[in-house]
Amino acid sequence: MGGAAAGLTLSSRALFAAGETPKPQNVLTPDQALARLKEGNERYISGVMKRHDFAAERAALAGGQNPFAGILSCADSRIAPEFAFDSGRGDLFVVRVAGNFTNDDAIASFEYAVKFLGTTLLVVLGHDKCGAVDAAIKTVKDGAELPGHLPQLVEHLRPAVKAALADSKDKPDSLLADAIRENVRLNVENLKSASPILSQCVADGKIGVVGGIYKLKDGRIDWL
Ligand SMILES: [Zn+2]
Repeated sequence: MGGAAAGLTLSSRALFAAGETPKPQNVLTPDQALARLKEGNERYISGVMKRHDFAAERAALAGGQNPFAGILSCADSRIAPEFAFDSGRGDLFVVRVAGNFTNDDAIASFEYAVKFLGTTLLVVLGHDKCGAVDAAIKTVKDGAELPGHLPQLVEHLRPAVKAALADSKDKPDSLLADAIRENVRLNVENLKSASPILSQCVADGKIGVVGGIYKLKDGRIDWL
C-alpha cells in the first residue's frame, strides 16, 4: 500500500528524468540570473547578439530542461522574450497572455518551473503602448464594450487601471503608461505572494521576482 501511495505522488525526481541540468551555465542565483538577463538585453539593444547553435542545443535539451528565468510576457507580436534577452533554447520558461497578468494557470506554470526545473528568477514583463491595457482603460473609464471573451481578459487588468486612475487625475496623458507600470507592479506582488510554493521560495531567498517594461522603440527594458 505504501509503495502504491508513494507512486501516486509526483516527485521532483520523476519529473526531472534524465539530463536534469543540460545547461550547467543556467544554475544561477536570482541576482546572477537578473544580471544575465540585463547583459542579454544590452546585446539585443546594440544589435551585437550571440550566435546561437540551435542544432547542438536541441540535442542537449532532448533529455530535460533547466531554464534560469521565468518570464510572464504580453502576447504582443512585437515582444519576444528570447530575442529581447538574447537567450537560447532552454534558457527562459515563458508564459504569455495579452496584458501579462497572473491567473492560476500562470502561477501553476511558474510553480512547475521553480519547483521542478530549478528556475530562480521570475520576471513580469510589460511593454509600452500595450493594447490590452489600453482596452481595459477604455472599459473602465469610458464604459466601452468589448466582443467575445475580451471582457473576461480585461477584467484581470481592471485593478491596475483603477490604481492608475486614482494616481493620475491631473495627468491624463500618462494614464496608459501608469496603468502598464501598475499592472506589472501588481502582478509581481501576485507572484511573490502566491502560496504555498512561490511565497515560500521568496521568503527563503531561493527565487527573486522582478518587473520590467519593454520599450518598443529601442528594445530597452526599464526595470522597476
Ligand atoms: Zn501588450
